[in-house]
Amino acid sequence: DSKRRGRNGWQAFTPELAEQQLHRLQLETHLRRAVNNEEFHLVYQPQVDLTTGAMVAAEALIRWRNHSLGEIRPDKFIDHAETTGDIVGIGDWVLQEACRQLREWQEGGLAVPRVAVNVSYRQFLGEDLASSVSSALAEYGLPGNALELEFTERVLIEDAPDTLRTFAALREMGVMLTIDDFGEGYSALNYLRRLPIHGLKLSQLFVQGVPGNQSDVAVCQAVAGIARSLGLTLVAEGVETEEHREFLLQLGVSIGQGFLFAPGLMPDELRLVYRTAAMGGPVR
Ligand code: C2E
Ligand code: MG
Ligand code: MG
Ligand code: MG
Repeated sequence: DSKRRGRNGWQAFTPELAEQQLHRLQLETHLRRAVNNEEFHLVYQPQVDLTTGAMVAAEALIRWRNHSLGEIRPDKFIDHAETTGDIVGIGDWVLQEACRQLREWQEGGLAVPRVAVNVSYRQFLGEDLASSVSSALAEYGLPGNALELEFTERVLIEDAPDTLRTFAALREMGVMLTIDDFGEGYSALNYLRRLPIHGLKLSQLFVQGVPGNQSDVAVCQAVAGIARSLGLTLVAEGVETEEHREFLLQLGVSIGQGFLFAPGLMPDELRLVYRTAAMGGPVR
């Protein structure tokens, strides 16, 4: 068993380390088969107009349910999937599924204007992202602006040779391009000018400290200023309280996402909430 092997062959490792290694191996083994085994599903978190509560987009968030590992949050497996390369297959599945769901909502008369999909750094390498996106859009008969891609600051920093071409191709299709968790990393402002993006998402890390924490307030103000002067849309993440909402509105931020409005919802839950919203005004 793993403990004995730990004593005999892996002297440099503590039992805890061996345990972690084993866990990682198990996780990666299951991860490799998860798409084919249909273990993933998506939940959707509304992005809403902070004044009216109307939904402007729904962000797709991946969920993984495995028979022996249980429920694993994306924070626990996306990084592994990046390392092993499995993120490419997973990412393609997410794109397809999000487009399929949007089409289904629209055909059912539910006015979800756009779906936002998270994209990992690794998916930006090579030339596959643009073609995956274009085939997903084509398959479900969606215009480019029905899709938004959220990528992390890492995509900007690493500056891979294909990145610019991929951005240009996506932009050409009309796809909306947004930097997620803005402010957490170390984006050189320079990159912001170089890439043809549409918007930023203000990280929940800072939103959650307002209005009490002075440095969080300062970061929010700075990011809002950057977005305004570069003509980028700004979506605040992690809006949990009425105080957050009021602070953001005063700052001129008009779109938000967070538990104050809704967590990630199953497609049917979202349909229920927003069918009512469309008829009777905002649900908050
Ligand atoms: P993210 O894209 O920044 O998504 C926001 C995360 O914050 C989600 O966690 C969401 O459930 C959570 N959240 C939303 N509102 C609130 C709030 O008011 N308060 C707090 N405390 N949290 C809130 P989740 O679903 O666990 O996802 C974590 C991260 O995993 C995402 O961060 C994203 O970076 C990544 N991720 C999720 N789905 C995918 C995917 O399909 N592909 C890739 N590449 N990454 C994904
Ligand atoms: Mg996101
Ligand atoms: Mg985010
Ligand atoms: Mg995040």
